[in-house]
Amino acid sequence: MIEIKDVSKTFHQRTGGSFTAIDNVSLTIRKGEFVSLLGPSGCGKSTLLNLVAGLEQAEQGTITVNGKPCSAPGPDRVVVFQEHALFPWLTVLDNVAFGLKQKGIGKKEREAMAMEQIKAVHLSKFADRYPHELSGGMKQRAAIARALAMDPEILLMDEPFAALDEQTRLILHKELEEIWMRTRKTILFITHNIREAVILSDRVLVMSTRPGKIKKEFAVQAARPRDYADSVLHHVEA
Ligand code: ATP
Ligand code: MG
Repeated sequence: MIEIKDVSKTFHQRTGGSFTAIDNVSLTIRKGEFVSLLGPSGCGKSTLLNLVAGLEQAEQGTITVNGKPCSAPGPDRVVVFQEHALFPWLTVLDNVAFGLKQKGIGKKEREAMAMEQIKAVHLSKFADRYPHELSGGMKQRAAIARALAMDPEILLMDEPFAALDEQTRLILHKELEEIWMRTRKTILFITHNIREAVILSDRVLVMSTRPGKIKKEFAVQAARPRDYADSVLHHVEA
């Protein structure tokens, strides 16, 4: 469970100015929940995700995972970014196995573990390829496999499909849904795509045009038929 309590984050510029990117936000994400975060550019979505990841520090309030503070990155919270996620000098296999090597797992075992995740994202045939030899969708699949290989409790996804064409995006929605059904990871998913948020998640949070605030939130009905997205657009746009 992720607990964000009265958290504020202000960036102080070198020139002396300051900007409050997160303004007194409180939020609880239950274990196994898939939560999407929507909102206009600059409203603080990535900042909030980076605070949970431990990549940024809150100056006010507390963020905990299962009661433990998130002040530094940890293997329990893995981030998948929009792009530049893979090491260009490593093959898919070595990219996915990289974190396992850091954990001290032996070559044979970590390669077997990595291949299992590569198979789960349908990249078995491409395990020996380098990132520049992959399509955008394949790169994001590899990035997801690398995150899953660490077996984190929480996946933090910052616009992971934003750079993809519509068709690839739809395929990856299905794959991510399958992964989530199988693993029941807790997922915090940032997107600008309202349909994507509604189709994938249990709960949608909308951050405000006034930076740093969560404006509203709503639960998504369990069955999530594809056309349901249109019927909830007014929740977001109102
Ligand atoms: P987008 O949808 O464009 O990705 P976002 O909602 O993710 O936007 P953030 O990246 O969280 O927005 O940024 C929120 C605000 O904080 C912006 O005004 C941004 O300029 C500012 N900000 C973010 N990171 C820093 C930083 N390291 N130093 C100074 N200001 C920052
Ligand atoms: Mg962002």
